Amino acid sequence: MTQELPKFTRINESFDCQNCGRTVPLAETTCRDHCPVCLWSLHVDINPGDRAADCGGLLRPISYSANKKKGWMIHYRCEKCGTEKLNRFLEHDVHLADSIDALLKLSSVSPL
Ligand SMILES: [Zn+2]
Ligand SMILES: [Zn+2]
Repeated sequence: MTQELPKFTRINESFDCQNCGRTVPLAETTCRDHCPVCLWSLHVDINPGDRAADCGGLLRPISYSANKKKGWMIHYRCEKCGTEKLNRFLEHDVHLADSIDALLKLSSVSPL
């Protein structure tokens, strides 16, 4: 079985996770903003992908919830400035999907 890979190249914005050191590949479908292995993120966006936040602190995953439309949501708190954020859990990705085990280790909160 052969799988066709896209022929175009994309600007590489993969990054090294500052929590676990894993090199995080790009996501195909969305803006990759957190580590698929440990789920930690960086406080660099105000809106997803805009890189408009100056903070640069580590975003610690603290809990998760299920959103009817978007699926799993990861709740973050910035270690540096205390901002709380939500990111979408990436359940399916051709390169590396988020670890459901890491997600389920967080505490679950009911959707608002
Ligand atoms: Zn990581
Ligand atoms: Zn911050």
